[in-house]
Amino acid sequence: MTDSAPRTTDTHCPYCAMQCGMTLIEDDGRWTVTARDFPTNRGGLCRKGWSAAELLHAPDRLQTPLMRDRKDTPLRPVSWQTALDRIAARFKAIASESGPNAVAVFGGGGLTNETAYLLGKFARVALGTANIDYNGRFCMASAAAAGLRAFGVDRGMPFPMQDIAQTDAVLLIGGNPAETMPPIMQYFDAQRSRGGQMIVADPRRTATAKLATLHLPLSPGTDAALANGLLHIAIKDGLIDRDFIGARTTGFDRVQRIVATYWPDRVERITGVPAALLEKAAHILGEAPTAMLMTGRGPEQQSQGVNNVLAFINLMLALGKAGKPLCGYACMTGQGNGQGGREHGQKADQLPGYRKIDNPKHREEIAAVWGIAAAELPQPGLSAWEMLTTLGAAGGIRCLLVMASNIAVCAPEATQLIERLKSLDLLIVSDIFLSETAALADVVLPITQWAEDEGTMTNLEGRVLWRRRAKAPPDGVWTDAQILKALADRLGRGRFFSADLEETSSEFRRATAGGAADYAGVTTARIAAEGGVFWPCPAPEHPGTPRMFLDRFGTEDGRARFHPTEYRSTAELPDENYPYVLTTGRSLLQYQSGTQTHRVAELNDAEPEPFVEIHPETARTLRIAAGDTVVLTTRRGRAVMKARLSRDIRFDTLFAPFHWGGAGSANALTNGALDPISRMPEFKVCAVKIEKTTASAQPKPAPAAAANFH
Ligand code: SF4
Repeated sequence: MTDSAPRTTDTHCPYCAMQCGMTLIEDDGRWTVTARDFPTNRGGLCRKGWSAAELLHAPDRLQTPLMRDRKDTPLRPVSWQTALDRIAARFKAIASESGPNAVAVFGGGGLTNETAYLLGKFARVALGTANIDYNGRFCMASAAAAGLRAFGVDRGMPFPMQDIAQTDAVLLIGGNPAETMPPIMQYFDAQRSRGGQMIVADPRRTATAKLATLHLPLSPGTDAALANGLLHIAIKDGLIDRDFIGARTTGFDRVQRIVATYWPDRVERITGVPAALLEKAAHILGEAPTAMLMTGRGPEQQSQGVNNVLAFINLMLALGKAGKPLCGYACMTGQGNGQGGREHGQKADQLPGYRKIDNPKHREEIAAVWGIAAAELPQPGLSAWEMLTTLGAAGGIRCLLVMASNIAVCAPEATQLIERLKSLDLLIVSDIFLSETAALADVVLPITQWAEDEGTMTNLEGRVLWRRRAKAPPDGVWTDAQILKALADRLGRGRFFSADLEETSSEFRRATAGGAADYAGVTTARIAAEGGVFWPCPAPEHPGTPRMFLDRFGTEDGRARFHPTEYRSTAELPDENYPYVLTTGRSLLQYQSGTQTHRVAELNDAEPEPFVEIHPETARTLRIAAGDTVVLTTRRGRAVMKARLSRDIRFDTLFAPFHWGGAGSANALTNGALDPISRMPEFKVCAVKIEKTTASAQPKPAPAAAANFH
């Protein structure tokens, strides 16, 4: 190769949990992406992936630490030494005045496994705080908690995505992969081409729902009623597998008693899904020789999220369609390392390897790896939203370190949260751009982005991948590990940390050994040779575990657990002041808070501004036309968006993507009501009012009880 020959690096996409394989090409200083034939995406990329290299050319990349001297002065460039010295001095002062828990850490589901591990260790060993959590609480936490309860282990997808193509029936609830992760659709397409059936339950007739055999247009927040109704029909019509229930599960009797009252006409009244469709769906699932059920964020991001997912798991267990080839429940994890990020210690209740921080044995195991006494480890701290609601409050958190998360946009009740962030003694944000959260910070630290650092990521299947470094970072930019090591040094705990990836990787694998998410046998050499390695993989000679639960579930007795799941309504229901249901989600061309995708011209030009989808009949009653500027108001805030008319949404429901902050922030509207188990806020359902900006009159409700589409 000559100096001028293009340079290629095989790596993975910077965005979602598909973690599609791609090749980065550098030719005369210009970076481009080409797809590669990785076992998951098999050459497919979505437009976000194809355009990802533009991030490497972004002109507004942060390249020096920024600091403000006082709250009322602007951010100004400073040296790393100045920034780190100030952070460490404030950490020490606040901890000494208010105790270590007054300093908190907020991580992200996009961090590599090694960084997530290091961040959890930094919080416990360098800061001594119990308060570390991450934005995965806002994504997959309900599915993770439900999977753990039912199966004893949470691995979002317990089978390779290729198996989707081979199963006979799929029920997909509240997920829209045709827009959020298009390359996975090749497996759903293949499944249907083989004669398989796909059912989609979603309040919107999404791009995915349009491909389905059957669309169940449920009212947002009625998922548990839908699941119980399907199970009721399955029992009534003899579709359940009593041999499987007897041999491999416990707890069915109580569930059977509960679902006895979920008659189809009652479930139709709750969900808005016609009874005939419920019957059809139950029979498709029950009669298919093999079937899978997958949830997206729809049923999960609710104050009953765990209950909802458990209700769907009950259905699959009763049908005998879990723990068998081509069968099972799966969570369609969203964030790039949403799976690995929830396994290795950046959660308030967790230690690496999916260990529990309140389990004495687990504490001993991790303390031994870290070279500290188990008694030094803090106990469980506050979950993400609980942490964010105590910011700046008397006796609450005074200092927050945010690593790779744009909470001012992606957390609920954003207007109030922004005020709380401003009230902190010290807000430190590390990011690649000046995000909405970074703009509020007292200190901003410029960090490497995906192609400038390396580490392992775990995709939505539990396949551990290796994201390679393709280029050196710009001058002035540090890795997360360098920052944590430098801070640990200043806190007098540097001997426990290394900025060297090899050392951290090796320690990380040792720390996972013996845990549920065991990565001890996963090496970069194996990942490269095998196209990723599925955990658990406890030893170098272990083949990894593409398919889980085939012989036994992960519980102590090996049996899956049924859980009684009554339908309970969401925290907020429409009323005369807020007559519609708002549901939020992602769109095709943006990703999460938009920190990256807003800077990619191709994506931003095509999807430049916040919008709300509304049914044309609903819009007509409110005198709203396509393209009008509208104001959405909830009990928590308001947001200004452009109206998009769509016959693919229920009359009573509005849909707004959450990719923007500022005046168009969908999360200024959402509700922080928490699931009692997963501590997941209720992003997916709240009561909302919509008005044309020029209208003075209150809007009238849409046609009552109209649930279907025209
Ligand atoms: Fe990237 Fe996800 Fe698109 Fe694949 S599906 S190219 S991982 S954004």
